[in-house]
Amino acid sequence: MTAKQPQPVQQIDPLAAEPGIAAAILAHTGMLLVALDAEGRVVHFNNACEHATGYNRREVIGEYLWDRLLLPGQVDEVKAVFRELVQKPVPNEHENYWVTKSGARICVHWFNTSVREGDGHVRWVIGAGLDITGKKHAQLEIEEHAARLNAIVETAVEGIITIDTNGVIESINPAAERLFGYGAQEAIGRNVKMLMPSPYREEHDQYIQHYLRTGEATVIGTGREMMGLRKDGTTFPMELAISEVLFPNRRLFTGIIRDTSERRSAEKRERERLAEHAHAARLAALGEMASGIAHELNQPLTAIVSFADACQNLFKKEKVPEDVIGDALSQISDQGIRAGNIIRRLRQFVKTGTLDQEIVNLNAVIKDVLAMVSHEIHMNEVKVTLRLGKRLPGVWADKLQIEQVVLNIVWNAIEAMETSDLRQLDIETIQHDDKIEVKISDTGCGFADNMAHLFTAFYTTKEKGTGLGLSISYRIIEAHNGELSALSNAAGGATFSFSLAIMEAIY
Ligand code: ADP
Repeated sequence: MTAKQPQPVQQIDPLAAEPGIAAAILAHTGMLLVALDAEGRVVHFNNACEHATGYNRREVIGEYLWDRLLLPGQVDEVKAVFRELVQKPVPNEHENYWVTKSGARICVHWFNTSVREGDGHVRWVIGAGLDITGKKHAQLEIEEHAARLNAIVETAVEGIITIDTNGVIESINPAAERLFGYGAQEAIGRNVKMLMPSPYREEHDQYIQHYLRTGEATVIGTGREMMGLRKDGTTFPMELAISEVLFPNRRLFTGIIRDTSERRSAEKRERERLAEHAHAARLAALGEMASGIAHELNQPLTAIVSFADACQNLFKKEKVPEDVIGDALSQISDQGIRAGNIIRRLRQFVKTGTLDQEIVNLNAVIKDVLAMVSHEIHMNEVKVTLRLGKRLPGVWADKLQIEQVVLNIVWNAIEAMETSDLRQLDIETIQHDDKIEVKISDTGCGFADNMAHLFTAFYTTKEKGTGLGLSISYRIIEAHNGELSALSNAAGGATFSFSLAIMEAIY
């Protein structure tokens, strides 16, 4: 099969050959076409012009362009463009408004040129225009929106910083410049890590990379408390809210920063006030306790004295019964330890107790306590089930004191299950809006009718108990603005729970 030969190119341009074709196209094109004579009077007004302005060409032909169609404020400007076209044979472009018959405005982008006589004099000035009203509106709207946003960002009290996905600063508003002590020019282009002290600095890249990789938000979309680092090396507490801005081909992160130094010091003053109150309350409680202490210490001391007397008598015997004396001595030692325990815990109870607070990971506290009592758990064959919340934020607490609370509760639970067949200890951490709840339940003897006394100092049902563990724990949680509570489980056993306020950092 032979390939079809292409037809030879026609050498004739139909528009040049047939003036009628060009005229038909110009009449029906969507472009506005207007021709003026050398004075500026309209001599041609195409269909698109009629359509866009609402004027019939008969109403316009012969009129000066500026008398009929221009916006009064632009007449001088358009006349200048017209003069230029009359004087020089150089085409130009211009953007101006026309006022339609109904009084509306349309914005037109004009491509202008002049047609000259043989002697060089202008015969016509012709403009071909694109109606860009819609585009212009959209552009003005975008500009206005951007200007409004810019004004908000520039005057905001909060620091606002945008960074790219590598953490490089793209913009920083005046409030953030003031907060960190860097000028915009110094900060833009550098990594945002320079505004963070350790350990936040090291964590930062990880957060972004983790989010980009998994889409899992840690700090993005939520707020967090952290420290900021100023140019002069000083630090300050701040609240950071990060949000993501998605563009079709890239993304940005916006951070809004609030300096919380003021709020933190007010909170500190409030905590000190509470600590003072708690101290006063403890001193008052101490009075009440005095008689209890006497009674409590009396028991082991009496026991020690009577065991010691017994030993003395046994030594007088001809054949000294060493095993009995050994038993008595170990009783003396036990009772001595018990008295010592009472005094030690009492001292803790009276201590001024300004809290030594830090960010505490409650899951880690629970694991530490379980490690401390692992021997007892093993010996008592207790089965432990942990349901610890994942990626829990830290709480603001005195770690040692919270450890003591968990230890007291776990210890009591193990003791309460000594005679149970089922020995099951469940520990749970649950995140609520602004706090973390710790729940510890057992399958022990439960409470009979003693729930009202649990938290009273010296209340104990145990032969060797001090009755101080729960009352100290209660006061510790109270000093942390929380509440320690106890519940009877439906299936028997007890559940203790307390909540602490969330601070920051995800574990
Ligand atoms: P202690 O353990 O020295 O008796 P606490 O203040 O820790 O002192 O506890 C007071 C009392 O509360 C205990 O003697 C016991 O009667 C009761 N109690 C505490 N925890 C539990 C529990 N898990 N189950 C049942 N009773 C408990």
